[in-house]
Amino acid sequence: MARRVIVAGNWKMNKTASEGRELVEKLKAEIAGLDDAEIVVCPPFTSIGAVVEAAAGSPIGVGAQNIHWAPNGAFTGEISADMLKTSGVTYVIIGHSERRQYFGETNATVNSRLKAALAAGLIPIVCVGETLAERESGRTEAVLASQIREGFAGIDAKEASRIVVAYEPVWAIGTGKTATPDMAQAAHAFIRSELRALFGDAADAMRIQYGGSMKPANARELVSQPDIDGGLIGGAALDAGTFASLIREALGR
Ligand code: PEP
Repeated sequence: MARRVIVAGNWKMNKTASEGRELVEKLKAEIAGLDDAEIVVCPPFTSIGAVVEAAAGSPIGVGAQNIHWAPNGAFTGEISADMLKTSGVTYVIIGHSERRQYFGETNATVNSRLKAALAAGLIPIVCVGETLAERESGRTEAVLASQIREGFAGIDAKEASRIVVAYEPVWAIGTGKTATPDMAQAAHAFIRSELRALFGDAADAMRIQYGGSMKPANARELVSQPDIDGGLIGGAALDAGTFASLIREALGR
């Protein structure tokens, strides 16, 4: 099945509102003709308004980096689905490994956030991936399976087809170490088989991005693998020219 390539930039805790606006203005010019890819930028909450304005009328979609599961209430520091939607957000990253590592995110909280995002009509980008210790002890598949089964519990196949999964081996994030295309493909094929076990044929429509030191020089080979449908990009998304080159490479241009 042909799946539309999706490339998303995770800006993490980078770019003020004016820096974000500037990046998107440059990116708009750089991506002319690349609209066969779905292109997303995920700024920090404080830059979302400026980025949504700058991206208006362009093919660039805007995502958030987190979402809370409750509709409102006493959750200091959190942001609800409705707050995101009414700010012009369409996508949301859920369960990034930095949130799992530093902020106590678990498969259960991923599941709650995912349900809130789906109920609001947002497109969730759900991150999974093993640490180096887990890979070296032969636990990669077991970790991915539990992240998927627990993270996606109670979701039906129709909702699932809207979910984007990002396979991000933790040891490859921000380290300059990329999974080889064969290694990444094997993990993606395993993830798709788990999705098929949960959602049947809907798994064939679900996009699975690779993330972890993806850059223009390796994007083409990674995204040409049969089960790799795009990328979730950290460092290389912070410069418009580099991000646009990466998108071009991912599309095989
Ligand atoms: C990420 O954090 O989602 C990521 C993939 O980062 P980097 O591209 O910098 O490795």
